[in-house]
Amino acid sequence: MTALENRQPGDVRMRGFTRRTTLADALDWLDAHTGPLASEAAPLEDVCGRVLAEEIRSEVSVPGFSRSMMDGYALRAGETEGAGPYNRLPLAVIGESMPGQPFEGAVAAGEAVRIMTGAALPEGADAVLPVERVEAAGERILVLAAVSPGQHVGRVGEDITAGSVVFQAGRRLRPQDIGVLSSIGLARVAVVRRPRVRIVVTGNELLPAGSRPEGCRIADSNGPMLRALIERDGGLAINPGIVPDSSEAILEAMRTEADLVLVSGGSSVGQEDHAAAMVIKHGTLPIHGIAIRPSSPTGLGLLDGRVVVLLPGNPVACLCAYDFFGGRAVRRLGGRPSDWPYRRVSLPLARKIASTVGRDEYLRVRLVDGGVEPVAIGGSSVLSSTSRADGFVVIPCDSEGYPAGTPVTVYLYDP
Ligand code: AMP
Ligand code: MG
Repeated sequence: MTALENRQPGDVRMRGFTRRTTLADALDWLDAHTGPLASEAAPLEDVCGRVLAEEIRSEVSVPGFSRSMMDGYALRAGETEGAGPYNRLPLAVIGESMPGQPFEGAVAAGEAVRIMTGAALPEGADAVLPVERVEAAGERILVLAAVSPGQHVGRVGEDITAGSVVFQAGRRLRPQDIGVLSSIGLARVAVVRRPRVRIVVTGNELLPAGSRPEGCRIADSNGPMLRALIERDGGLAINPGIVPDSSEAILEAMRTEADLVLVSGGSSVGQEDHAAAMVIKHGTLPIHGIAIRPSSPTGLGLLDGRVVVLLPGNPVACLCAYDFFGGRAVRRLGGRPSDWPYRRVSLPLARKIASTVGRDEYLRVRLVDGGVEPVAIGGSSVLSSTSRADGFVVIPCDSEGYPAGTPVTVYLYDP
């Protein structure tokens, strides 16, 4: 029996897509089947860019003691009243307070304690007189300026008060957030587990990434491109190598341990398109053929309870399908926003663009003098066109395109 005679119900090989799912319906299905994975505790060294799985409430105040914000003298502000260059007031220096080494006694009237930035304010003192406002004279100082109570003193809890919420669950941690977490005494926090994403690159014509193309064989572009995209979106890419166009090999590869499976190639209706057939046979493929351009031969299904995204092998279509579906799944599983991580700008079209009604179109564009224009080449096999492009525009399915001058939203590939 040939692969085609063995065809399952729903297997569209060599028949073509008779009905295409709308982009909106495909996204709804994807969203319904992807949500944040369970959390894991991770040390602060490993949480930059990751998503907090829990609310963080501080058990401590930061700082936990009143501290000096200047190098100078801790004293009673009231005693400096009226001090000036022509009214230098003497105080006795009774000791010093250094960072981590506080002065143990108390400051009384007529006294001061030498203090450094970050050191604890001694009992009895309520302000710090900066060293520039003092004339030192042995064990005495002459005060040259007045300070008010609390001046140059960092209050208890000025940064963070004990009991307050520091971060909400779902926050993507920035480097400074990690500093804040450390400041409240945390060494580990619960973050959403990074999705493990199995990349299944299919194609008998493919040579491993980085090989020199030879004869009728081409080097794998999609494997390394998908790895980079997945890692950008917070996933852990798993790609042990090219999988031949055989249903058994593809099925086995799709069944390896992972949270999400992205298959490159074999997603369409050709004779060698085994990926779709295997998902239909061993799982479900409710969406196969989507009303978008390029990458209409995209499939979304479930195998062993995991989402499988069938991406077209044509590299531009592969990128486009990743942008619409694969990346969204990775981000949602990792607790990130579903939205594109691309910066968006609104710019006028430098030339008119035409588009097919009935499909959402992913159009690669270049920035030109104050506007934007489509990258000349159209085919979805010309991957270098996406490198020449600065970004893309999505033309909605109900649009025939736009005249020159129309402002459009451009999603920029570069941050
Ligand atoms: P397929 O979707 O498998 O029918 O492939 C469509 C086209 O994309 C064919 O010309 C393939 O040779 C090409 N192609 C498939 N996979 C890759 C890949 N990983 N890298 C570069 N080109 C590919
Ligand atoms: Mg193929």
